Amino acid sequence: MQSENVEGIDPATTVITKMREQGISSLPRNYELVYQFLNTSNAALIREFAALGRRPTQEQLDSIGKKFLPHHHGINTVDQTRARISDEMQAVIRLVMQDRTTLKKYSHLLGETSSRLSESNATQPDAMADLVRIISSATGDTIEKSGAAVHQMIERAEEMAQLKSELEEYKRLATVDAITRLSNRRAFDERLSAIYDNKQDAMHQALILGDIDHFKTFNDTYGHQVGDRVLSVAAAMMQKSVSKDVFLARTGGEEFAIILHGISLEDATETAERVRLAVEATPLKNQNDGVDCGRITMSFGVCMATDAANAQELYRKADVALYEAKDAGRNQVRTHIPKMLNWPFFKL
Ligand code: GH3
Ligand code: MG
Ligand code: MG
Repeated sequence: MQSENVEGIDPATTVITKMREQGISSLPRNYELVYQFLNTSNAALIREFAALGRRPTQEQLDSIGKKFLPHHHGINTVDQTRARISDEMQAVIRLVMQDRTTLKKYSHLLGETSSRLSESNATQPDAMADLVRIISSATGDTIEKSGAAVHQMIERAEEMAQLKSELEEYKRLATVDAITRLSNRRAFDERLSAIYDNKQDAMHQALILGDIDHFKTFNDTYGHQVGDRVLSVAAAMMQKSVSKDVFLARTGGEEFAIILHGISLEDATETAERVRLAVEATPLKNQNDGVDCGRITMSFGVCMATDAANAQELYRKADVALYEAKDAGRNQVRTHIPKMLNWPFFKL
């Protein structure tokens, strides 16, 4: 949970402002890198990024991305795959053109022999045999060339199918968080803004933001690696406590989000409470050395989509509620209460 959110600046704006200030081009992978830089506790990433200065080259950015972001290398692979597809397309075009040339020559030859057939001396057996030999050899030749072209076309099609499935896998990886296997920040941003694509859809949708309490202390006590495993345990607990169709994401370091559909404020709050209890009730034991790592707790903020005008406002309001949960002592759920319901009249 960033203090900027509490002051009313959403994370996306913070990232974009930073990119603009530093003259970084607005590629999705740069967005991801800057987001990580602004949210990470990784001293090496902070140091290397801070050393970049204004207008860093794309190579410099990619080299940091490759080093610190698990899926960043996938971006280059996608570019390479795109180049391979382009090569394959060129090969197919060449094959078709070759085939067309072969067929053109063949049809020209047939035309020529046909006109020679109508010449009077072509009725002579020798001349006839000659023409038949030419046609037969040209036909064999053409069939052979076409057969080879068809074979190559089949190979190209198989290669293209393979590339297509590789690209689909990269596309999937680009939206999945490497540690928890939940949706990542990018997928969350898309899902969140989709809430407001259709006013009708925004009804009965709720956003829950969750943040692990005192996670820095946990990492300091048991180590970052154990912390990483605890992130996936927390993710599994969250997944177990909600139904399958619920959208779950790891939105940053030790921060998570849940988007619920077809739900009331009471039920959304109850869901957050169920997740909170599940996390709190899970004992953490390091399977490598048997060390008892105690338990972690999480704080949650809930806001209904109808209480905000857009994705940024919804995120901010849920984050304010989360901040209130932290302020009130952590390990609890706080809900954004619409202003109307805040009036003393409604509190009776
Ligand atoms: P609070 O209850 O106020 O949320 O305290 P906190 O310590 O959880 O929050 P703070 O924002 O001070 O620190 C977040 C910590 O989360 C810092 C860092 O050690 C940890 N963290 C962030 N990302 C990762 C990660 O990918 N892996 C691990 N192991 N720890 C992470
Ligand atoms: Mg946090
Ligand atoms: Mg925390």
